[in-house]
Amino acid sequence: MALPKKGDLSEEEKQLLEAIGKGNTEEAARLLGSKNVRVNCLDEHGMTPLMHSAYKGKVDVCKLLLRHGADVNCNEHEHGYTALMFAGLSGNKEITWMMLEAGAETDVVNSVGRTAAQMAAFVGQHDCVTIINNFFPRERLDYYTKPQGLDKEPKLPVKLAGPLHKIITTTNLHPVKIVLLVKENPLLAEVEAMQKCYKVLDLICEKCMKQRDMNEVLAMKMHYLSCLFQKCILFLKEREDKLDGLIKSLLKGRDTDGFPVYQEKFIRECIRKFPYCEATLLQQLVRSIAPVEIGSDPTAFSVLTQAITGQVGFVEAEFCTACGEKGAAKRCSVCKMVIYCDQNCQKMHWFTHKKVCKMLKEVHEKQELEAAKEKKRQENKHKKEAAEAAGSALTSEENVVSESEGNKEVELKCAGERTEQTIPSQEAPASSPLSGHVLGGETNLENNAVEKAQESEE
Ligand SMILES: [Zn+2]
Ligand SMILES: [Zn+2]
Repeated sequence: MALPKKGDLSEEEKQLLEAIGKGNTEEAARLLGSKNVRVNCLDEHGMTPLMHSAYKGKVDVCKLLLRHGADVNCNEHEHGYTALMFAGLSGNKEITWMMLEAGAETDVVNSVGRTAAQMAAFVGQHDCVTIINNFFPRERLDYYTKPQGLDKEPKLPVKLAGPLHKIITTTNLHPVKIVLLVKENPLLAEVEAMQKCYKVLDLICEKCMKQRDMNEVLAMKMHYLSCLFQKCILFLKEREDKLDGLIKSLLKGRDTDGFPVYQEKFIRECIRKFPYCEATLLQQLVRSIAPVEIGSDPTAFSVLTQAITGQVGFVEAEFCTACGEKGAAKRCSVCKMVIYCDQNCQKMHWFTHKKVCKMLKEVHEKQELEAAKEKKRQENKHKKEAAEAAGSALTSEENVVSESEGNKEVELKCAGERTEQTIPSQEAPASSPLSGHVLGGETNLENNAVEKAQESEE
């Protein structure tokens, strides 16, 4: 079939684009029934109807177009944008997911060499970035449920494919959350099943590194999950309290400040054990983590999460202290320094939190006080700067730019682990989640070092 020519649209096709713009699914459906409408027609910029509806965030129209055979990987756009790129730009999570399910390629680049995930990150659509980076089609896993080559048995029993796929595609990599996911499925939570699963994870990891379009991010995620599964096996075999014992170990905080040392060490060890030492991602991770003292920022969990999910700068979001889930909103009423999804998470954490709750309360009160003082100081500073800037318009502009960039960096590094802020590390500056400026002080220095390390590497 000859490719449609750009901008060569029939009357009905023009009406279709109009209906898409209005989100009029019924009208779009009617028009798609017309023989004068080609589902992959191109407007003068090389955009298909699917690209239009993805960009405009029209979920139902996207569904309709895919049902009518819209080509999700059409790449005729003048700047090389694909439907997935438009979905990522729009920030619509459902459409992003839909495009991936429909077979959208994730490694295609636009005319300036950016992938869909990079474009979404560029415009701050981090949820879409996470979805793209963590997409793993079920068929890729189902491959292991069939005997291959000389195998008599498949490497993965069919009944385990579903629960394992759920874990593979999760975007919350908190070790406690993963163990909870394992625990909730009786099929999965036994030694033999876990052994099969971790071996498949290792195979996928190897494939990710050896395939032509190498995917270090996915490889690292598979390796991390494999390490965690092996830890589960150990606890299933050796501990009477089995996976609950592992959860407890992962949550247990040290006496001085409640920092979960075992968890931190475990994640660091997972990263270090990544079998492909030449991987750029591994080197970046090690460089970010190695100089950090245990108990300081950033934690291994936040560094790993950032690398794997691409999540950056989710300042408004709150993360559960126990399981790392996003959107936690229930604070410990005493210390107000830890936050949970619900009572279950709080109960799970209480055995260790109760030892530091009172102490954290004092820290919190002190921080509030400091934050208020610092805010005042900053306000005065700004007033002074504004007055000075009035003298020279040019300088003032520069100030604004560098300042806002500074803040962005802070957001970046604070991502992933809210709890970090609650831990009084040495002379921690007063850090209330709301006072970005205050937060800036300490974290920035550290971040600059990390950034520089990364730059020099490039
Ligand atoms: Zn939770
Ligand atoms: Zn508390």
